[in-house]
Amino acid sequence: MKPTAHRALHPRDDEPWQDSQRRMFLRLAWLGTVACGVALWIQRPAFDPLDRVALPLLALTLLVLQAAVAARRVRVRTAVTVTYAATTVYFLLALEQQFRTFAPQVHMLSESTYWFALLYAAPFLIAPPRQALGWAGGTYAVALALCLYHLGRGVGGGDLRLTGAVLQFLLSGAVIIVVQGTFGVQRMHLLAAREAAYKDALTGLANRRAAEERLAALAGEGEPFTVAMFDLDHFKRLNDEHGHGAGDRVLRGVAGAARTVLPPGGLAARWGGEEFLLILPPLEGPDVRPLLDTLRGHLRDLRHGEVSGVTACFGVATTRPGEHPDDVVARADAAMYAAKRQGRNDVRLDETHRVRG
Ligand code: GH3
Ligand code: MG
Ligand code: MG
Repeated sequence: MKPTAHRALHPRDDEPWQDSQRRMFLRLAWLGTVACGVALWIQRPAFDPLDRVALPLLALTLLVLQAAVAARRVRVRTAVTVTYAATTVYFLLALEQQFRTFAPQVHMLSESTYWFALLYAAPFLIAPPRQALGWAGGTYAVALALCLYHLGRGVGGGDLRLTGAVLQFLLSGAVIIVVQGTFGVQRMHLLAAREAAYKDALTGLANRRAAEERLAALAGEGEPFTVAMFDLDHFKRLNDEHGHGAGDRVLRGVAGAARTVLPPGGLAARWGGEEFLLILPPLEGPDVRPLLDTLRGHLRDLRHGEVSGVTACFGVATTRPGEHPDDVVARADAAMYAAKRQGRNDVRLDETHRVRG
């Protein structure tokens, strides 16, 4: 097995996603740091007593998190959670403070309340709906408690302008949470539908679409790979003798067996009916044979009611430089049918293997 090609075949699937999240966090955290600086700068020379302490602290927290995330010492998820908590505490303190100083004089709420929209919406972009509802709902509950407490104690002498501003603040916050929650649930459904679109319903394996996309991706990256196509022998007879339900259970068992022999980064897919495809790192004949012999052993050992073991024909092919994935699969398919013609229950290597293996 070639180590470089093997490594390239099994990158962690979520790595590109993690990288884009990391870049996004670094950009937003940098923007937040700059915003803290600007908010302080425009207050010169008379600084708000809360901002004078809280904004430098917030900026410092963001800088430390940026450094830790950039150095991969802290996970993006943790950094986002800390950022959300720190920002929320700051804006809730600012809300509390304005009820004591700003609101009684001006009978309005200050511009800092605009940012609550972000505090309510952001959790739905980064967490599943239930968890996001917990974060946004928790923030909203504290803001609501502060507003009711101060209105209850007659802040601003019960001026209706202030009461109206507070009610609008609370109402718009509730609407944002409901709207974001609805989108969040829809997003989850879309993600579930996308996952289902790439999964075989009976066996839970990757389906043909998923396999074709993986093959196209590997070919697009110029990565070599080996495919092993296999088709169960006399499966129609098994269905006829034991019933379709037994056939289905056998197909599930075959899928489970295929999963167990799969090397890291490999993919087992149900290609159609009783035909399966394994996408493997580029393997020479001597490497692929033991893997398939193990799988054949598992298939022989399958027990489902009266069904005791199945056999299959395997066809194996490895990419030639610049070859289209369809042609590799066609060569594996041809090798498999050669095994069928020769009497079944066999592994046939395409000439790519016979020459090199
Ligand atoms: P061969 O050894 O030449 O491959 O013979 P075979 O009987 O396996 O092949 P054939 O193509 O004649 O029949 C395939 C059978 O696979 C027929 C079909 O009913 C069965 N089959 C395909 N999909 C399913 C499924 O989802 N469940 C069950 N139980 N059977 C299936
Ligand atoms: Mg068959
Ligand atoms: Mg078939």
